[in-house]
Amino acid sequence: MKVLVPVKRVLDYNVKARVKPDQSGVDLANVKMSMNPFDEISVEQAVQMQEAGTATETVVVSIGPAKAQETIRTALAMGMDRGIHIQTDEDLEPLAVAKILKSVAESEEADFIILGKQAIDNDFGTTGGMLAALLDWPIGSAANSIEQDGDAINVVKEVDGGLQTVKLQMPAIVTTDLRLNEPRYASLPNIMKAKKKPIEAKTPDDFGVDTAPRLKTLKVTEPPKREAGIKVEDAAQLVDKLKNEAGVI
Ligand code: AMP
Repeated sequence: MKVLVPVKRVLDYNVKARVKPDQSGVDLANVKMSMNPFDEISVEQAVQMQEAGTATETVVVSIGPAKAQETIRTALAMGMDRGIHIQTDEDLEPLAVAKILKSVAESEEADFIILGKQAIDNDFGTTGGMLAALLDWPIGSAANSIEQDGDAINVVKEVDGGLQTVKLQMPAIVTTDLRLNEPRYASLPNIMKAKKKPIEAKTPDDFGVDTAPRLKTLKVTEPPKREAGIKVEDAAQLVDKLKNEAGVI
């Protein structure tokens, strides 16, 4: 089975986002960027499937600026076979990303696509679903575990109140949740080996799809600052404050 893993380069999850003074977006100048954490989990899943002999080839694809190549290299150092970089300086919306990924999946004749549940920069959480609809493939979203079952894949999904197991006929799509696995660190020898692995270069224009934005960002603001807490003397004072000051009980 050929496995395709789309990965996005995003603001590192440890970095505190700074909003641009004109409120047009988050300032990404000179800040650490990394692979979207959910996509690291997807890469780990694909590499584990290759090690188990269920994946015959693993391909990583990223749509983003020139530096997205570094993110692809990280995935190659973790064990993916080869990369495809679709270079653009625009932060394309999920529908545009899904249309491009559909085209990549078809030309690569992929059998299985593993995306992150969401990209932590914009929190859309919609690309996997849109891609499944465009390809007319089944999707198991928010996967907690994945197991091959003959021609099908059984996916245990995280749902409100528990876990739900679904069977997907191949070709299929899965989106990863945090508990699926623990992504490995790339070892130095594997980082060196990854430098020799091929990365194919493309642009969104190569796919002939409409990538025009459907959304207009009106403004981006920081969340309200948290006010300092206070210490209460005893439970009675706590109840009094909750009742008479906060008005929550
Ligand atoms: P989103 O729907 O934007 O929250 O993203 C969900 C998932 O779609 C991510 O975890 C990635 O697997 C994939 N994805 C989103 N944007 C890109 C991109 N620019 N390049 C590659 N994959 C992407």
